[in-house]
Amino acid sequence: MCNVNQDQKDVKGFIPNSSNELSRIDKEKMRLLGGMQNRSEQGKHAKEMNVLMKLCGDVIKEEELKKQLEESNGNVFVVIERFIIKLMDQNIEVQSSFLDTNTDRSEHKTTQVICDNNFSFFFFSLHKTISTYNILFAKKKKKLPENERSLQKEASIEIEQTSEKLKKEDERAEIGETRPGINLQGYCTHTDCLASKANLPVWVNIGFGDISFVSDKTSYCCPDCRQSTVKSVVKTMISNSEHSICANDTLVSVKDNHYQCFYPIKPGLLYELKAKTIRQHATSLEDLISRSESAMMSNELINLVSELQKYLITVVKPPKVKDSVRLLEKIRCDYNGNYNQVFDVGRFTILCDNATKLQTAVAVMKKAEKFNLIVSEDKDFFERQSKTHHRFHNIKLYVPKHDVYVEMQATLKNYTTLEGYTVIENPKLSHSFYEHIRAWKPKNAKEEELKQASDETLTKINDIICEWIDDKGIKKIASHYKSHLDIGILKPSQLSQKTESEINNNVPLKIAKFLYEQLCEFTPEKEKGKAIYVIFYEYYKKHIIGYSDPASCADFALLLQESWKQEIEEDVNLLQALETYIPLQANDRAHVDGDDNEKNDSYDCYQHAIEFLERVDERKSEQEQRKVIIIQGKSGSGKSIFCRHLEEILWNNYVSDSKQPIPVYISFSKIYHKRNEKDIILQALQGKHISKEIMNTIREQVSFIFIMDGFDEIFDVYRKSNNEQYFYDRFNLNQWNAKVIITCRSNVLNEDDIHTTLFGTNQNNVITTSMMYLWPFTKQQMHSYIEKFAKMKVKNKKRDGNSDWTPQQYEETLNNYPNLQKWWRSHFYFNSF
Ligand SMILES: [Zn+2]
Repeated sequence: MCNVNQDQKDVKGFIPNSSNELSRIDKEKMRLLGGMQNRSEQGKHAKEMNVLMKLCGDVIKEEELKKQLEESNGNVFVVIERFIIKLMDQNIEVQSSFLDTNTDRSEHKTTQVICDNNFSFFFFSLHKTISTYNILFAKKKKKLPENERSLQKEASIEIEQTSEKLKKEDERAEIGETRPGINLQGYCTHTDCLASKANLPVWVNIGFGDISFVSDKTSYCCPDCRQSTVKSVVKTMISNSEHSICANDTLVSVKDNHYQCFYPIKPGLLYELKAKTIRQHATSLEDLISRSESAMMSNELINLVSELQKYLITVVKPPKVKDSVRLLEKIRCDYNGNYNQVFDVGRFTILCDNATKLQTAVAVMKKAEKFNLIVSEDKDFFERQSKTHHRFHNIKLYVPKHDVYVEMQATLKNYTTLEGYTVIENPKLSHSFYEHIRAWKPKNAKEEELKQASDETLTKINDIICEWIDDKGIKKIASHYKSHLDIGILKPSQLSQKTESEINNNVPLKIAKFLYEQLCEFTPEKEKGKAIYVIFYEYYKKHIIGYSDPASCADFALLLQESWKQEIEEDVNLLQALETYIPLQANDRAHVDGDDNEKNDSYDCYQHAIEFLERVDERKSEQEQRKVIIIQGKSGSGKSIFCRHLEEILWNNYVSDSKQPIPVYISFSKIYHKRNEKDIILQALQGKHISKEIMNTIREQVSFIFIMDGFDEIFDVYRKSNNEQYFYDRFNLNQWNAKVIITCRSNVLNEDDIHTTLFGTNQNNVITTSMMYLWPFTKQQMHSYIEKFAKMKVKNKKRDGNSDWTPQQYEETLNNYPNLQKWWRSHFYFNSF
């Protein structure tokens, strides 16, 4: 049914050259499609009436014609089309020699011959009227009219001459591709050109613009041999443009804005072609908005939409046209202030379940002439990537009644981020990101780089949303996903101490803030959402934070863990000590010589420390869960090795990607300087390759266990300066979310010193402090230590090719020398190597 309407399109392309009436129609058409002037003048339609009466007066009553003409604002072609549609709807289908010429095979098959007297009479009279004039132009889509075909027949040597004519057409090879704007088909004459040798027509793209040529005296560049040897042009196809074409034998120009118009080119004539990209014809933004609104509510579009809905296709009509503030900003940034470049003021989004439905939707839209609409631009970004990698089929429809273009954007339901229709998690994310970078004009090379990276990131996101990356690829990306709840995203250091307005006036800072917040809030559950998160996090890591700094608490922990591993590996003695570590005993009271602990009240030092650290006092807030353990012990009682052991266990038990507190071992003798006591933690962290810039962020977001070893070693210097004695304040530990373990040799600090310095008698009890004393080894512990030690020695010696003592030999030796044993019991760690 619709096919016949398409043929009518061809009918209106026939332009007679010697009839006053019909050239006036032509002018009318020019006005309609080009300039759109005010057509309300009375009596204006008299000429059109005259033509209509001549064409169809035998079939249709004059009053009816007049009524239709007024309704269509004097557009003769709309009236003719409307009558044909009406007649077709009465279930009349036509096969006439006239139509047959322009009908392709598939249409041919489905055309039934049911002739109504009136209708066929009307048709023949129309045909006859037109045929009596010399035909200057024939315009059609995809198919060639008979007269042109016969011209090419002689030229084409590749084509089978015997098969039926419709088949021949399909098999005619064409070289080069057509693009938006003007395309010319001609013949190359270069002797070394394969296309020329085979006498195949080639397509030359001109694009948009004005050109003129004499059809058999051209010198266009051949797409095959790249020489300027396309000497003659036989056909033109003008696509996605408002265009005009004129030949010098008549000086009557044809104007049109159908997305695909073919015109045969006659030999020896001078042609003038003009093609512009589609533009709105509004006189102001308000005018554009009001035209768009009228068009959106017009019967033409309503009919098209209901046709689509018949196929169970979702058509989303925006409740209201875009708000003018955003529209104005967009016009200013994207279109240099030219509102006539805006097509989405009136836009329908068409959502389909699958690719086949989408094909149907596009096919239906392309038949929009049936609804008195003109398909003016057809851009397929569904199989071909758009600049933004969004995947859709975009069709611009011209609504003649309101002289405005509206946009139909068709895509799959899976690909849309339209609120209320999308299956994408956090659908606004990609668009908000786009809004951040859209109008950004980078100020320097660094910003340029960030802009580039941002654009690339957006592309990657759209590739995931629109499945330019396949399922497998998306899954692979998603497999790297880690929830922010686990890894703890770190705030970009550049945002610290910046005011809201400072951030808002600086695009890179704005982006940094936006991404940080998004990454802290978005918790995707589906593959696509996870993949999107991973892409954003990668971008954040590389371009917002910088690869050398950690982007999350987990990253930070990893950095420190690496630094710790390296430190241990480089210290052979320490490594050995850790390998032979035997659980240490501790007690609430200090050990006195001769006390073999008959009370049996000592406990495992490590267990005690861990329990103390982990115990949560529910009456206190997190800020108040500050804890200090003071460990005292005699020289050589194992304080340092205990600290190192604790650090090792904490790291070994550290679950990667968690927010567990991070252990940091700090040796007072190495780190402490009187002058920068307050920055002792910063010093320690910088020593572990953590940059100063991110300290603020780290301080805010990471929790620690500071293991501070050997306070006695600095005490002489420490006591001399400053009135404040409490170590917690002097080391500025309040700034950190940390629990602290501090070790000190017994008998270096007196009771008062211990109270003022380590307990902080003046503090108002916010910090829970616990004290424990390391006790020397029992016989049993010593035994197991010797065993471990000997085993390790044997292992090492075997490796080195030497033999060494057995554990028995060690023990016998010790037993034979009681004094040695006593000394050893209190000095066992540091003196055993
Ligand atoms: Zn060539």
